[in-house]
Amino acid sequence: MDQLTPKQTQELRSLLQTSKTKLEQQLLDAKFATGVVILDQSSVGRVSRVDAMQQQSMAVSTQAKAEATLRKVIIALKRMDGESFGYCSQCDEPIKFNRLKVQPQASHCLRCQVQLDHI
Ligand SMILES: [Zn+2]
Repeated sequence: MDQLTPKQTQELRSLLQTSKTKLEQQLLDAKFATGVVILDQSSVGRVSRVDAMQQQSMAVSTQAKAEATLRKVIIALKRMDGESFGYCSQCDEPIKFNRLKVQPQASHCLRCQVQLDHI
């Protein structure tokens, strides 16, 4: 059986809550970091300005990724309050616990995720 036991669901809930806290903190830090780069731009030379801009765009994409993950984590926590958590939102098959342990915010089973990634 692939369905989650209450104990497994509990374990995944605490994983989700931990990563929610972490991501929120990371986003706060990132906002602060990108702000600093913008402030510094007038006082740095041309070469380091390019560096700063590269660093900033890297920070922005890391931030975008963190934001996307945070959204998924929040959705997963909401689904946990209902009954759809742990089931693939595409084919309705239970998502394996091993997969959820690595990615508790996953909303698709591995098979559907692979398909989605290839679109
Ligand atoms: Zn599926």
